Amino acid sequence: MPRFDPTEFGRLLARLTPQELRQVEGLVADARKRAEAVLEIDARADAGGPAASCPRCGTCARTRWGRTRTGAQRWNCSGCGATWSGRSGTPLARVHRPDLVVALARDMIEAPQPMSCRRGGEVLGASRDSIWRWRMAIIGVLTPEADNSLAGIVEADEAHQRESRKGSREWVRHRRDPDNHPAPPRLRWRAYRRRGSSATAPPGGWRAWEKKLLAATDRAGHRAFEAMSDAGHKAISHVLLPVMAPDAVLCTDGFVTYGRIAKDERIPHFALNAGRRTKRTPRSHHINTENALISRFRAFMQPFCGPASKNLAAYGRWHAARNNADRSYLDALRLLLASGHRANTIC
Ligand SMILES: [Zn+2]
Repeated sequence: MPRFDPTEFGRLLARLTPQELRQVEGLVADARKRAEAVLEIDARADAGGPAASCPRCGTCARTRWGRTRTGAQRWNCSGCGATWSGRSGTPLARVHRPDLVVALARDMIEAPQPMSCRRGGEVLGASRDSIWRWRMAIIGVLTPEADNSLAGIVEADEAHQRESRKGSREWVRHRRDPDNHPAPPRLRWRAYRRRGSSATAPPGGWRAWEKKLLAATDRAGHRAFEAMSDAGHKAISHVLLPVMAPDAVLCTDGFVTYGRIAKDERIPHFALNAGRRTKRTPRSHHINTENALISRFRAFMQPFCGPASKNLAAYGRWHAARNNADRSYLDALRLLLASGHRANTIC
């Protein structure tokens, strides 16, 4: 391949018609998408980045040492002779196709409905098991909304998800060795009738098996969607208060716990019981944004057929990241690169 000459390329661009320039823009955008993984990896090893010094001896003196098979810049330590690149020691360290992980992250955050693992495997040319592991690695590193980021009018409500032990080996272990492995506290869900019918309910009733998530949103596009142990005063305050700016106003559906929290913390609180407003409620104060977010959460979760409850917190943050105006798939990729998992956890 001939060496890239910016001057010659500039001359070529100057001769193009406006229509041809538009085509070039599209081609450059596509090429940039393919190169994004390498650009992010190289950025970590730039001066001042987290991978700028030798991972073995910590010295900053280094020389360029060619490129890795995936195209990332390789560095050589002038002190100990070790070589490394921007993805050494990150979850992407041994992934053969980091560009596929980026493509998956883009689909997960930006697509109207993320691809299933099977479909993702077909589209990206990877196995569905790899897609599943990459997906879990990506959503596992998503962080909650930053402190004090929800400002102005903040709407809060709870979302529910039925408890799930998908993937659990409890029944298998119990049948194999009943003395050491007690039976799980409920039967499989298919043993109970559907909700709303008069027949069998699980022990403690249906409500006892609902996992709770707190959904909070402001009007600037910040979203918090965090799993909680229960819908009590302590659990809600623990999730809601850190993300709310000190001067924010709280709008809720009138659940009594929010009223108590607002009173304790002296937060202006507008309770819209069953969506109804009083004469004193300003027109701008409603919980429609929140209701839409929870409604989208139900639609988002439907294809997963009830993910295991141990992963619910990660799914909640995934939904929040998809709906957050400030978050892009590159943020998810940067978090993944910064997470420092063991090198072989993702490939
Ligand atoms: Zn070194």
